Amino acid sequence: MYCLGIEGTAEKLGIGIVSSEGAVLANVTEYQPLTRGIHPREAAQHHAEKMRSCIKAATKEAGMGLRETGLVAFSQGPGLGPCLRVAAVSARTIALRYGLPIIGVNHCIAHVEGGRLFTKGEDPLTLYVSGGNTQVIAYADGRYRVFGETLDIAVGNCLDQFARGADLKVPGGPIVEQLAAQGDYFPLPYVVKGMDLSFSGLLTAALEATKGHRIEDVCRSLQETAFSMLVEVTERALAQTRKKEVMLVGGVGVNRRLQEMLASMADEHGVRLLLPPREVMGDNGVMIAWLGLLMHNAGMRQRLEETAVRQRYRTDEVEVLWR
Ligand code: AMP
Ligand code: MG
Repeated sequence: MYCLGIEGTAEKLGIGIVSSEGAVLANVTEYQPLTRGIHPREAAQHHAEKMRSCIKAATKEAGMGLRETGLVAFSQGPGLGPCLRVAAVSARTIALRYGLPIIGVNHCIAHVEGGRLFTKGEDPLTLYVSGGNTQVIAYADGRYRVFGETLDIAVGNCLDQFARGADLKVPGGPIVEQLAAQGDYFPLPYVVKGMDLSFSGLLTAALEATKGHRIEDVCRSLQETAFSMLVEVTERALAQTRKKEVMLVGGVGVNRRLQEMLASMADEHGVRLLLPPREVMGDNGVMIAWLGLLMHNAGMRQRLEETAVRQRYRTDEVEVLWR
């Protein structure tokens, strides 16, 4: 059996086709070109315009028709409402047109299951860092539980908003990483509350600091501070859960400095570090298709009425029947 997965939680549209054995037959991603932040309705418009050509490209890459896939999965949430609705409507249309079962999946869990597929991870503690989410996730007692998370903005959003405010290119992550390599560190507000994180005060302070410091130094300090916070919480969750692997997923996960910091922490604890390939670190349709297959093969089914989008879909709401 195969599954066609549609990812569309934010500004990226991803189509993946995967087999039950975990073979990736197609992975097509289309980015909405951004000059400012993400506008939900404009991003949704982009997905609607590109949906047909992306699906066509994916079926061509896989060498199969839509009817032959056997299952269609889509990102049901969390994410931006208008974007989620385009993915959901497209999935429903395909399901009805070709008589395929449909399954909406949780985007955050898809990152974890996709990550496990790409890295052959068994049971990792996962640090999921992206433009919209920041969570430390581990499997325990039949669910993916959140051991720590942001209390306000996501770390990727912090980098993006910083870049915009400092008149740098967007998205912010890559340009901040590049500038940080030539900068020196100075302290900025470090906010960890128990197992949770806060990035909004750090963002304000970093923007304020651009008035009196070189931009390279601010970028370096912003990265060092934000990433140390992430690694601290991940380290504590590792001690609590006693997992033997730590995995990094999400668009911010391509950052070399974050990878290096997490690697040194993992090394100290004697746990294995799992890094998915760059092209599937961020949002992609493959992880959606793969989670759809895992759920379907575990007997999980959804009626059409149950495929409404869920903007605030939480990681720990899903009963994990496939593990
Ligand atoms: P996602 O939401 O998973 O697609 O990831 C998008 C986020 O990843 C955005 O906030 C980007 O700024 C961030 N990002 C991309 N490349 C990098 C990088 N090299 N370093 C840090 N963050 C990055
Ligand atoms: Mg994501």
